[in-house]
Amino acid sequence: QLGVNRSTVILAFAELRSMGIIESRSGSGTCVSNTKWGATPKHTPNWKRYAEGGSFLPNLPFLRRIREALNQNTSLIDFASGELSGDLAPLDEITKLMSEHPFPSYLGYVNPQGYVPLRQALVTYLDQYRGIRTTESSILITSGSQQSLYLITQCLLSPGDAVAIEDPSYSYSLPMFQSAGLRLFRLPVDREGVCPEEIRSLHKKHRIKMIFTNPNFQNPTGTLLSEQRRSQLLEIASELGLPIVEDDPYSLTDYEGIPRPPLKSIDPIGSIIYIGSFSKIAASGLRIGWMVAPHSIVERLADARQQMDFGLSVIPQQVAAQFLKSSYFEPHLERLRMQLLFKRDLLVEALNKELPDLIQFNIPQGGHHMWCKLISAVNDSKLLEEAIKQGVVFVPGSVYGSDSGFVRFTFARAKAEEIGPGIVRFAKALRELIR
Ligand code: PMP
Repeated sequence: QLGVNRSTVILAFAELRSMGIIESRSGSGTCVSNTKWGATPKHTPNWKRYAEGGSFLPNLPFLRRIREALNQNTSLIDFASGELSGDLAPLDEITKLMSEHPFPSYLGYVNPQGYVPLRQALVTYLDQYRGIRTTESSILITSGSQQSLYLITQCLLSPGDAVAIEDPSYSYSLPMFQSAGLRLFRLPVDREGVCPEEIRSLHKKHRIKMIFTNPNFQNPTGTLLSEQRRSQLLEIASELGLPIVEDDPYSLTDYEGIPRPPLKSIDPIGSIIYIGSFSKIAASGLRIGWMVAPHSIVERLADARQQMDFGLSVIPQQVAAQFLKSSYFEPHLERLRMQLLFKRDLLVEALNKELPDLIQFNIPQGGHHMWCKLISAVNDSKLLEEAIKQGVVFVPGSVYGSDSGFVRFTFARAKAEEIGPGIVRFAKALRELIR
């Protein structure tokens, strides 16, 4: 019998374990490792932990379900996606521009604040189309309004800050606000747009730091903020010293062709951060957005962009600058407005024909969206599943923060000839559920 000291055995085991020659599992004791002797043991990273890490909340289940349904079945009629159909994008115009102008003329990094010729073109555009007088140093180019909102929520606000947003509002469809740790307070929206009176009492109780509004053809309700409410909103914001983020992607889709002046153009003391985008007036595939803000804010956000991605690639910026300056831009807008009006009328006609007893709505005068109230209560999730079964998708109203019993139809994405059949399918789904 060999007399081996117990601590020698323990040390030997520890050494063998550290070399990967043996491994201990709780409940199964210690055994020789499957790993080749002498080789470093291999452990798969705990990917689940990483997937759940970071500060971003996952997107809303309804929106993930809609995306999944659209990916699985390309013949679904799409009243859900907030974008223009392919035939409304200025593809021919952009193709012509690209042959007329030598693209690309430069392929390096550009200033993260944005390509100078695009900012110059935007100075003219903002003055001509939106009545906003600004300079290129007050403009930041982004990859769309979404990125502008992201930069504002992540870089200008801190976790725990309180913000006032419209209810219902596109902002609720984005866990972006919650991912930034912001506390959200609701301002009701009615036929005249957002009701600003509550801002005072909310501010008193919660120290509101910023107000977010989408005053023109709001997503999802399609409402236009009335003149009186515009003045009231500006007055309250200036009284409390609060900045307003004016998210304005839809104003140029005014079907009468006379877009309302933005808050930014009548803002006497500089309370507004104005954000615009090409997505809803040209194409979401031309990812260009812009922000007009006090220079210190633009500088701060451009500095943040430097850390994130060095700013947007120059090619889409060159294309956007040429398009804005070209003689194609105005006729494109006219055609877009006419086509959107045509699609809106098709949707109104189809809803009146198929669901006069079950749905109520206001007719939007611009934009992409129609907000409908369901007269009978139905479960949002069941309605969406039944609609998918019938071959159509829409967005349940609860995604936008409101109670269930509303739906948002986007009429910009579907082809004109799909709108009637799409509503027939939706009506079938709705009647199936309330039978
Ligand atoms: N704001 C509003 C009100 C919107 O409806 C959208 C798109 N649905 C966005 C911002 C984001 O637009 P984009 O990033 O494509 O410019």
